[in-house]
Amino acid sequence: MIVQYPDPILKEKMPEFDFNNPILDPIQLEKDMLEAMYQHDGIGLAANQMGIRTRMFVMGHKNLPENGMAFFNPEIIANTEEVEDLEEGCLSFPGIFVKIKRPTSIKARWQNAKGEVMESVFSDYECKCFLHELDHLEGIVFRDRVSSLKWTLATNKSKRK
Ligand SMILES: [Zn+2]
Repeated sequence: MIVQYPDPILKEKMPEFDFNNPILDPIQLEKDMLEAMYQHDGIGLAANQMGIRTRMFVMGHKNLPENGMAFFNPEIIANTEEVEDLEEGCLSFPGIFVKIKRPTSIKARWQNAKGEVMESVFSDYECKCFLHELDHLEGIVFRDRVSSLKWTLATNKSKRK
C-alpha cells in the first residue's frame, strides 16, 4: 500500500535516519522498499510514501533488481545550472504525468544501508528521479513544482485515458 495524495505525511519533512539508533533495520528497510517499488512498477520510492518517517528512498528498475539502491540521508552537493524538462510520474498520483524542470546533472552524497558515505554523479532520468525522491523527504510533491494550469492539463489528460 503506497500512501496516496493528499495524505498529510506527503507534506512532512522527514527526519534524519540515525544509524546509531535506527527506527528500523536499514538492510531490511532497503529490501522491503525495493520490493514495494518493483511491485508497483516504480523507479523511485520515498519512505514517507510507505508511511515511514525517515530520510531514505530507493531507486531502481524491476528489470535490473540487482542494481536497486537505497539512499539514506541523501543530499545534493553540486548541480548544473542548466535545466531540462522531463516527464515524471509518482506512485502517490497514479496515472498523472507532467514535465518538470530540473537540473540536468547533480553530484549527490548519501549513506548506504550499512551507514557508509557514498558519492556519485547522476544525470538524465536518474538525476530527475533522485531529485523527485529527495523532494518527497522535504514534504514537496511534483504537483508543487508546476503551475496550476499545467497541473490541470495533466490531470485532465489522465482522466481521458
Ligand atoms: Zn513521487
